[in-house]
Amino acid sequence: MQLKLTKPSVVQTLLRQHNLRPSKGLGQNFLINEHYLAQIVAAAELSPADLVIEIGPGLGTLTQALASQAGRVISIEKDQRLAPVLAISLAAHKQVQLVWQDALTVDYQQLVGEATQPKVVANLPYYITTPLILRLLQAEVPWRCLVFLVQAEVADRMQASPSNKDYGLLSVACQYKHEVEIVTRVPASAFYPAPTVASTVVKLQAPASGRPRELAVEEPWFWQVVRAAFGQRRKTLANSLSAGLPLTKEQIQLGLVAQGVEPGARGEDLTVDELVGVANELGCRR
Ligand code: SAM
Repeated sequence: MQLKLTKPSVVQTLLRQHNLRPSKGLGQNFLINEHYLAQIVAAAELSPADLVIEIGPGLGTLTQALASQAGRVISIEKDQRLAPVLAISLAAHKQVQLVWQDALTVDYQQLVGEATQPKVVANLPYYITTPLILRLLQAEVPWRCLVFLVQAEVADRMQASPSNKDYGLLSVACQYKHEVEIVTRVPASAFYPAPTVASTVVKLQAPASGRPRELAVEEPWFWQVVRAAFGQRRKTLANSLSAGLPLTKEQIQLGLVAQGVEPGARGEDLTVDELVGVANELGCRR
């Protein structure tokens, strides 16, 4: 019989039996709500053909639900104290592979191997949400979709538009190859222990039509340009780019003009497509 990990009393008993206290430092807020668990899994639209990468299985709550629908689940967990609990909660799910590593340093390309269009589903540890999402999106893996449970303010940054105060590197990373959809808001009471802030389930989905404006340079150069564009928010785009790129100010100004971008504009004024255009243009001038 499967452990009912959405029942607070089951979670508390399990933690007590294994002499465990949820670690604040590792962002351990376990999901204990059946309704929101079902919404996360439904958003991923899983089938037996899918490989799912999960970050932070914790006690195995979301992992069990993913394993009941996907063909394979690879779950990356940093906290080895959870091993005895996961051995029990995942005993019936042989298609789950546990990887005891730091999700910030794992090689995602190697992990997914030949899998076409793998998916990511995770209730993310809040203290590394942004670097982790950036790492997943910059890993050059053709993710079909990524479903994240994150703090509400991170979700706002993920879907922000140009000229909005929340728009920045995270927004561009999320919107560069994916459409961003808010699936549902999640109250703090859905977790044990309850966090101090509200959360949101966000889905990033690759559009069937691909990117409207194609990148003509290598992806690492694009990210270098985007990082430079947002690197110095109070400076003009031309100044930020010349501070962060191996190009002269003149090369940058000519490149911006060729793309119809005002050198006096700021990084946060540019759409993702305009940033792609600037990266393409400046890539030719290196
Ligand atoms: N998936 C479980 C759930 O929904 O109840 C637990 C989610 S809890 C918010 C985050 C999980 O990420 C914890 O299990 C924590 O130990 C793990 N974690 C924290 N930092 C990590 C890291 N750098 N790499 C991998 N896992 C990490």
